[in-house]
Amino acid sequence: NKTVLSDIEIAQHSKMQPITTIANGIGLSENDLEHYGQYKAKISFDAIKRLKTAQQGRLILVSSINPTPAGEGKSTVTVGLGDALRKLGKNAMIAMREPSLGPVMGVKGGATGGGYAQVLPMEDINLHFTGDIHAITSANNTLAAIIDNHLHQGNKCNIDPRRIIWKRVIDINDRALRNVVIGLGGPVQGVPREDGFDITVASEIMAVLCLASDLEDLKRRLSLMVIGFTYDKEPVTVGELGVEGALTLLLKDALKPNLVQTIEQTPALIHGGPFANIAHGCNSVMATKTALKLSDYVVTEAGFGADLGAEKFLNIKTRAIEKNPDAVVIVATIRALKMHGGQAKGELVNENLPALQSGLENLKKHIETVQSFGLPFVVAINRFHTDTQAEIDLLQNWCKIQGVPYGLTEVWEKGGAGGIDLAEQVLSALDEEHSFQPLYSLEDSLKSKIETIATNVYGAKGVSFSSKAEKQLLQFEQYGWGALPICMAKTQYSLSDDASLLGRPTDFTIEIREIIPKLGAGFIVALTGNVMTMPGLPKKPAALQMDVTNEGKATGLF
Ligand code: ADP
Repeated sequence: NKTVLSDIEIAQHSKMQPITTIANGIGLSENDLEHYGQYKAKISFDAIKRLKTAQQGRLILVSSINPTPAGEGKSTVTVGLGDALRKLGKNAMIAMREPSLGPVMGVKGGATGGGYAQVLPMEDINLHFTGDIHAITSANNTLAAIIDNHLHQGNKCNIDPRRIIWKRVIDINDRALRNVVIGLGGPVQGVPREDGFDITVASEIMAVLCLASDLEDLKRRLSLMVIGFTYDKEPVTVGELGVEGALTLLLKDALKPNLVQTIEQTPALIHGGPFANIAHGCNSVMATKTALKLSDYVVTEAGFGADLGAEKFLNIKTRAIEKNPDAVVIVATIRALKMHGGQAKGELVNENLPALQSGLENLKKHIETVQSFGLPFVVAINRFHTDTQAEIDLLQNWCKIQGVPYGLTEVWEKGGAGGIDLAEQVLSALDEEHSFQPLYSLEDSLKSKIETIATNVYGAKGVSFSSKAEKQLLQFEQYGWGALPICMAKTQYSLSDDASLLGRPTDFTIEIREIIPKLGAGFIVALTGNVMTMPGLPKKPAALQMDVTNEGKATGLF
């Protein structure tokens, strides 16, 4: 009957080691670090260069079933698994994304793991951290200002103001900014046009930063970004506007991975934070590659369910890091499975075996997806104190009957000690022979790639394209962009593009509304259903619970 402390209370009671000590433990010296206070440091480009020839460790990708609005503990399990591997004497590291202020102030309150499986310093990481997301916002909006100034100063590039696709961004959920009109007030105030804001983590610059392999590649990618089209419908790039240098300059420090530690002092690189529903959902290539060089086992996470983050990790990021994960962990919780099986959110504390049984269909679909990539996997059952023994037995028996490897994890309650079973299962999965294959070949047409994802990963019976999307697909193939991978933008809550269809929906069609070129990121975004690239705040935002004492201590980041 011990009192349950909140995530932030646990974090604040934990003792951190100076970041230099953590760095020393993975073979980095003081000279390799750029300090941001005592407990956070960026790793220098020189250190990263030096590591180029080092051997790579093994990569473990953490994914999950379709989440409920609260999140299902994927970050928590990622952190706890890293800690558990260390407890087993393995040289393990964690590579995760940086939280966006959108979900922190909106629904989640924090995104640095939970309970005794957290990365620290929790407040810093959740708030401004080392300023990477601010740098991305600044670079994005610098480009927006340059575009509007270009129109104002004579429009040498012949940009059609009605066909500009570059949007402004801000890193908070602000639905009032989704559609705006700018440049009002007469000739001195610029050229009036319709514009809009996205959340920063959906910005192409976030994707570019996460996929770039060094500063040179960052600059190359930035210059390729398409900002809109001319009156003759020809694409206009950042390179033509001549600002890739300035944008790279704004991002030069943001490109360096951030080193922090878990409650159990496992080293963690937290870097880059694209959402997995409206962006590609993986932490940076720089961080993942660096972690692979610094340790034998890297636990990394891709956002939301295996239909989103993992699919994109396996079709997009794997191509960028030239390495596929050696094993996948699929996180499931009994309460989310029961929701998928039809139990109402308010009822989840009550035992409901029939709902759990039918919700397992959702887990099954994600297992099939991971298997279709040819990868070994383990199901992590993230235990909540409300789970009953009968429910846990049902889930474990199901896994046994299906021949599905699983590990029960209690890392939220016990830290690494609660993840030993899972870690052991993962270690044996890593020893399985496997042969990875991506879902589609880059040579397939854009349309066929979208159809492959929708039918194979989501289980759709087909795809319907709006007439706008049909036209864009034709045009994009003509521009020579047909060989790029696809980044789907879809709700995270359902396998379909309708957030209300839980479980394993069948007999549905995926609607493609619009296609957006992201040439710098190196993919084509397909917007499905009514997914939004600027979320809104809920009725009771998490921000309402937050405060800070006169001594500067944060409260309410749960
Ligand atoms: P995700 O990465 O899937 O979005 P998180 O790891 O951020 O999910 O967890 C979401 C919230 O759920 C956090 O507040 C975390 O403390 C809480 N949580 C995660 N696992 C458990 C658990 N086993 N028991 C209780 N709370 C948990």
